[in-house]
Amino acid sequence: MQTSLQIDSRFPQMGTTIFTVMSRMAAECGAVNLSQGFPDFQADPALFDAVHKHMCQGRNQYAPMAGMPELRQAISDKVAALYGPRYDVESEVTVTAGATQALFTAIAAFVRPGDEVIVFDPVYDSYVPTIETVGGKAVYARLQFPDYTPDWAQVAQLITPKTRMIVLNSPHNPTGSLLTAVDLDKLVELLRGTNIVVLSDEVYEHILFDGEKHASLCAHPELAERSIIVSSFGKTYHITGWKIGYVVSPAELMAEFRKVHQFNVFTVHTPSQLGLAEYMQDASRHLGLAGFYQEKRDFFRNLLAATPFELLPCRGTYFQLARYSAISDLPDRAFAEWMTREVGVAVIPVSVFHADGHDDRVVRFCFAKKEETLLAAAERLCKAFVKPR
Ligand code: PMP
Ligand code: GLN
Repeated sequence: MQTSLQIDSRFPQMGTTIFTVMSRMAAECGAVNLSQGFPDFQADPALFDAVHKHMCQGRNQYAPMAGMPELRQAISDKVAALYGPRYDVESEVTVTAGATQALFTAIAAFVRPGDEVIVFDPVYDSYVPTIETVGGKAVYARLQFPDYTPDWAQVAQLITPKTRMIVLNSPHNPTGSLLTAVDLDKLVELLRGTNIVVLSDEVYEHILFDGEKHASLCAHPELAERSIIVSSFGKTYHITGWKIGYVVSPAELMAEFRKVHQFNVFTVHTPSQLGLAEYMQDASRHLGLAGFYQEKRDFFRNLLAATPFELLPCRGTYFQLARYSAISDLPDRAFAEWMTREVGVAVIPVSVFHADGHDDRVVRFCFAKKEETLLAAAERLCKAFVKPR
């Protein structure tokens, strides 16, 4: 259909997300898709049974705006058990339509036109467009290659009277790096005496390797009082397509969050919330995730050891970064497209997460896949890049 309207695009520079682009290209080329982050294996049927039961029992109407009390209680219990603080079920926990909505809503609730928001570069793709949608300005602190650690002295220099918010993400997508307790101590020094809100994206909170402990902002009392913490059931229970997540924060911050949430989403799928509330009662289901993915990480890294890819450290998330300078001197986007078309393995170029397109010639593999998928990918990579002796 044609329109006669003259569209004055609000976002003339904005393209389609790299995850959509690469997943589509993978499908078109018949490539093994290790690009977009999602599991290719089935979630636990016990979760489906729980949701189905609630549907059949007639729990199919609107949930309360903040989420089903049963699920908010289960979230509050989990957070208290893992990190210490007890968030109030009535006023300090909200269920969202995934983490993306939670991040959008938090930014929309706090950031005004002209406000500055500090993000760490490379930066997960949804943060900056959201900040700009509400008229804010993203200010970039760098994560230092190749360990992707923050430079707190640089962050100190970026803080101005206009800084409204700082967005953290640990475990970090795309790099697999982690913030430590020492990082949080440094951050608290910088924020003391300011009104800066911390938005902490902790969707990979249960996916940390080699015995590392997740440094949740809610476990740090001085940071928790100014933090909105976001997580997602998509990552934890292998259900990225369900789009259900949550936010915890002090009540005064949550009151502002809900002002936006109620007119943006209002409420989330009722039977799924009830099913999740039941499913969460068995803590081994989230506590077992680190071991489950560590096996996948190690399996995938071993498979790639025979190839010329140089694997960077992966301390958390289900993403593995790799340098490819021994294979090609193409820019990373061209390399990722070439790999998808010619080698038959789709990956994500890491430069898309850099504000200025900076290219360290690194690509991201997702290893949240069945063993057979990882084996199929490795077979193609070895065929292309490992010379027979
Ligand atoms: N933040 C990060 C760092 C992510 O990797 C993702 C999804 N991959 C999200 C947020 C969005 O999560 P959801 O699918 O629950 O919206
Ligand atoms: N966050 C997922 C990734 O990093 C993808 C989510 C999406 O497609 N928006 O691959």
